[in-house]
Amino acid sequence: MIVIGAGPAGCAAARILAKANLSVGLFDKAVFPRDKICGDALIPDAYHALEKLGLVESVTRIAFPSQGMRLIGFDGSNVLVRAVSACVPRLELDELLVKSAVEGGAEFLPGHELVNVVNEDATNYRVEFSYGASSVAARAEWVLLATGAAVKPIRRAGLLLRAESKSFAVRQYVRNERVSKNFKELVFAFDHTVKGGYGWVFPGPDAIFNIGIGFFGSAHKHSNARRTYERFIAKMPLARDLMRDGEIMSPLKGSPLRTGLSGARFATGGLMGIGECVGTTFPLTGEGIGKAMETGILAADSIISQSHLGRSAVARTYTTGISRLQPKYDVYRKAEFLFNWPYLTNKLVTHAAGNLYFRNKLEGLFNETTDPAFLLTLSGWRKILFGSGNEART
Ligand SMILES: Cc1cc2nc3c(=O)[nH]c(=O)nc-3n(C[C@H](O)[C@H](O)[C@H](O)COP(=O)(O)OP(=O)(O)OC[C@H]3O[C@@H](n4cnc5c(N)ncnc54)[C@H](O)[C@@H]3O)c2cc1C
Repeated sequence: MIVIGAGPAGCAAARILAKANLSVGLFDKAVFPRDKICGDALIPDAYHALEKLGLVESVTRIAFPSQGMRLIGFDGSNVLVRAVSACVPRLELDELLVKSAVEGGAEFLPGHELVNVVNEDATNYRVEFSYGASSVAARAEWVLLATGAAVKPIRRAGLLLRAESKSFAVRQYVRNERVSKNFKELVFAFDHTVKGGYGWVFPGPDAIFNIGIGFFGSAHKHSNARRTYERFIAKMPLARDLMRDGEIMSPLKGSPLRTGLSGARFATGGLMGIGECVGTTFPLTGEGIGKAMETGILAADSIISQSHLGRSAVARTYTTGISRLQPKYDVYRKAEFLFNWPYLTNKLVTHAAGNLYFRNKLEGLFNETTDPAFLLTLSGWRKILFGSGNEART
């Protein structure tokens, strides 16, 4: 097996395949530990995947735990949605994931950049990599592409359907001991400075905060990310406080996100796309670590359970499994209208703050136990807009 890309998707797949005694080469163009531009937040779906991988304990050891997600409306209204969550720098998380794949039995080959994938004959793929100044080729019956949001490798593997990405986000690290003392929440803030998106402040280990903004839908094409970020941190009280006496730990860096489970083929023959290269990052929230691992596990399980029936059976099982997630992605994509409707967003936040039933529903959304479709129904919005609160605001 060849797995290309050692982020959460590739490492999850490599660990599962290698633990099933299959021979796995895990290739990445980078030399680890390597940074990945990210908000670093782990939400419940990441924990579900880590549980399947047997890695919850080791990740918990390096992560900064959070009490939940605080959603802040455009008008400053806010609510704490409780769900298992944490923040862990990707430099450390991905290093741990690579080690877990190697510990499972995979061979890790850093510094290998994908150049081409050729379907050599009925059973084998030939994958070409550049390695320093030389070229290296490897052969395998199964190839898993896990190269994230970059378009070039998806095109080279022949899985690309749409080059353009639908979202863009930037982030920066800031250390602030003073603020970190009493702060254990992942903050998602809607603000007029971030049109078509939201800003975040996530506390991580060693009093280092991950601060960023993301644009979704078509908004990112019209936005100057740096200027928007500067406006956001100048206006949002918490970000402003952090910056006041905080130490800047990194430059502002940005990256596109491939969202919506669209833009690439999931599988053709023995070649499968997993993680963000097939758009597994959520629209609306931009979270994607959990679903990257989940699809990596799904592809690996499909190979393990179906390969005796041939390539089409594996591709079918994987495609059916991943397509089951599609309705959720579709709702999240449509719910991006909230970014442009401050009144509705504020109502949603205040209703959740004052109504336990609805707050549970929101918690269920993060925990994946509530169908998000209520965000698009008339009856759902009637309750949000006209329903009464049944308890004091949190
Ligand atoms: C600013 C920002 C904030 C985000 N915040 C969050 C968050 O807080 N929580 C969350 O869950 N998600 C977040 N995301 C999304 C998250 O980063 C992705 O969903 C996740 O990283 C996808 O994992 P992956 O394994 O599919 O790809 P990646 O993590 O991108 O890993 C891909 C790997 O492939 C390698 N690679 C790329 N090209 C090649 C090549 N040609 N040859 C060989 N190797 C290659 C790369 O070096 C990399 O190691 C954020 C994204 C951005 C941009």
